[in-house]
Amino acid sequence: MRKTFDTKQTRAEIDLENLAFNFHSIRKFVSSDVKVMGVVKADAYGHGSIQCSKRLESEGVDWLGVASIEEAIELRDSGIRIPILCFRGSRLGLESLFLDRDITPSLFDIDRARELDHAAGIAGIRKKVHLKIDTGMGRVGVPYQNIALFADQISGLSNLEVEGVMTHFACADDLTSELTTLQIDRFNNAIALLREKGIRPRIIDMANSPGAVAFPESHASMVRIGGLLYGLGDDVLPKGIDRPELRPVMSVKSEIAFLKSISSGEGIGYGQTFSTSRDSVIATVPIGYYDGYRRALSNRSRVIVNGRFAPVVGRISMDWTAIDVTDIKNVRVGDEVILIGNTDGNQIKAEELAQLCESISYETTCGISKRVPRIYLPEMV
Ligand SMILES: *Cc1c(COP(=O)(O)O)cnc(C)c1O
Repeated sequence: MRKTFDTKQTRAEIDLENLAFNFHSIRKFVSSDVKVMGVVKADAYGHGSIQCSKRLESEGVDWLGVASIEEAIELRDSGIRIPILCFRGSRLGLESLFLDRDITPSLFDIDRARELDHAAGIAGIRKKVHLKIDTGMGRVGVPYQNIALFADQISGLSNLEVEGVMTHFACADDLTSELTTLQIDRFNNAIALLREKGIRPRIIDMANSPGAVAFPESHASMVRIGGLLYGLGDDVLPKGIDRPELRPVMSVKSEIAFLKSISSGEGIGYGQTFSTSRDSVIATVPIGYYDGYRRALSNRSRVIVNGRFAPVVGRISMDWTAIDVTDIKNVRVGDEVILIGNTDGNQIKAEELAQLCESISYETTCGISKRVPRIYLPEMV
């Protein structure tokens, strides 16, 4: 058993050992010559990007991936030295940040490319960029049909070096979709075309978590892994296929702040959407939808108290959630309440809460708000 914390406030415990375990599990799953990019955008899916990135860097991850330049700078400021790819790419006026802080932009727009080339020329730097090709996601990327023209245009920009070429899958979690295979074909054709035009990227990458697991032919020279690192997979990986062993990284815990015995027929919370049908013991927990414990879970989710499940009753409000602990013995104020996590063989995964909200686990962990302090395990010394 790990040491429990004396602070029993509402908190998210981030198990960095499990993060490292998942990373090595993924490493083993893809072949050893495939690089792994740890995707730590969105504060590492709510887990804390600095702490997660530092641990991943020390475990030997090859690249880190973030969405915005601000996220990349936060990592550089914290001392991260390994290459960082910024998915949203360069923005007008911010080129010098990419140059000065050694952050690699993904590139999908010729105007941004020209601005970056110009800034690199002034700085006397040959700037490495990763070209993003849209092969079917339909979000950002040079449309695969236009790759020849784009190749000609970018070849004229002598201060840029296309180090990498990437694409992103739309449906890799769905084995009934033929889109992924089509995307891989389109991408490989685009790479061939780039090569004909004299562009020879060293790094070629397509796969996100479901792509890396379900489509080994998409591994190329690197995989970009987010969800799996955080042990999230049940709702983004296709069922019934071989997958790396994963352990959840985030637990969300709180404590019982208030306890009361009430008789049958009493209402609980806003709208009185729940009333007791027996004499009941109701506990109130200091977590609410501002913390990211979604209101959509009202009267639907469950928590763990003293090793046993207890249902959430009534509406979840901004700051409080009520639970029915009538069937649990010896409950006291101050007892630990597990909202995501496990104990004594009982487990509540982020996936379970996500499903109740018709969402995915990524949104659950991303949604645990800044009010909830992240406590890193093992304790830093
Ligand atoms: C978020 C993201 C990933 C990671 O996806 P997961 O499913 O979390 O592994 C990979 N590539 C790009 C471009 C992304 O935006």
